[in-house]
Amino acid sequence: MKRDIKDLSIEELKQYLEVNGFLTFHALQIFNWIYKKVTDNFSLMTDLSLALRSFLEENFYIQGLSLKEKKISSDNTEKYLFKLKDKNSIETVAIPSGKRITGCLSSQVGCKFSCKFCASGILGFKRDLKVGEIIEQILYLNSHHRLTNIVFMGIGEPLDNYENVLKAIRIINSKEALNFGARRITISTCGIIPAIRKLIEEDLQIELSISLHSPDDKIRSLLMPVNKIYPLRELISICKEYIEKTNRQITFEYVLIKGINSDLSFAEKLSKIAKELKLCKVNLIPANPIKEYNILPPNKLEILYFRDYLLKRKVNVTLRKSRGRDIEAGCGQLRLRYEK
Ligand code: SAH
Repeated sequence: MKRDIKDLSIEELKQYLEVNGFLTFHALQIFNWIYKKVTDNFSLMTDLSLALRSFLEENFYIQGLSLKEKKISSDNTEKYLFKLKDKNSIETVAIPSGKRITGCLSSQVGCKFSCKFCASGILGFKRDLKVGEIIEQILYLNSHHRLTNIVFMGIGEPLDNYENVLKAIRIINSKEALNFGARRITISTCGIIPAIRKLIEEDLQIELSISLHSPDDKIRSLLMPVNKIYPLRELISICKEYIEKTNRQITFEYVLIKGINSDLSFAEKLSKIAKELKLCKVNLIPANPIKEYNILPPNKLEILYFRDYLLKRKVNVTLRKSRGRDIEAGCGQLRLRYEK
């Protein structure tokens, strides 16, 4: 069985080479080919001996994803549906905005957390993505665009695949691979408290987003069943600890859903949480309609009232445009249709 060579850190590759009688410095050459020259074929690695090239060919592969569908939205958002080696599928999105191009990555096949507004959970959970599968989404997008930012806001819960997500981040962050700045990488979580606690101790300057979606414990439990395991109060308290210990800002994602979490009593409670935490900001996102859940965004006026209420209370808030709606770019929507 061949392995994905991108599952290995450079240290692991060195060790593997050494155990098999090759010199360790070849690891750096191999990383150069894969990450800097984006080669997907060992035979093209012309500064390696033929013996090493065929050894690599026998034991590893470089390309594990195959493109099944690509859609370009009228707002230039690009959505890719990839098939994995085991026939599962995932989505990856490229979102241009001004000078930025953000890659939105999947971290799992499906999702365990079944938030009641998100298409990703509808088909349930299949498996974690491997390190190489996470990295390959970045390599693919990066070969078409120069990504400036990476967010783990595609399918899956990145903190439920903690080891692989963190290892993938360390690899692309390393100078031997992409040297991609940790500050330009965001992990978004539905609020897995023990994993956030672990993240505080990591020596990585990555950004953290929390999918909050309600400042009210009962409504949050209805929208996000994970709130029954990791309730709001405890979540806010670990956020406080995160901010105090790392001195980094937390972003709260807040999907505005018509008739559920968008009246001003929610804005009031949300502003209290933001005041309590100080070093935080709020991203308001009008819900992408999901017909399986009867989810709709509030009307324009209601959205603006909500934002203005927060602005007046000096909350750092931005209203996001919903991107790529015409190409089913919302979390898990394209895969859902494909698998159906
Ligand atoms: N599991 C992680 C990452 C994936 S979700 C998390 O929960 O943060 C990434 C973001 O997309 C989340 O903020 C999520 O709430 C949002 N999202 C999901 N469904 C949506 C919808 N129908 N409309 C708008 N945003 C949605």
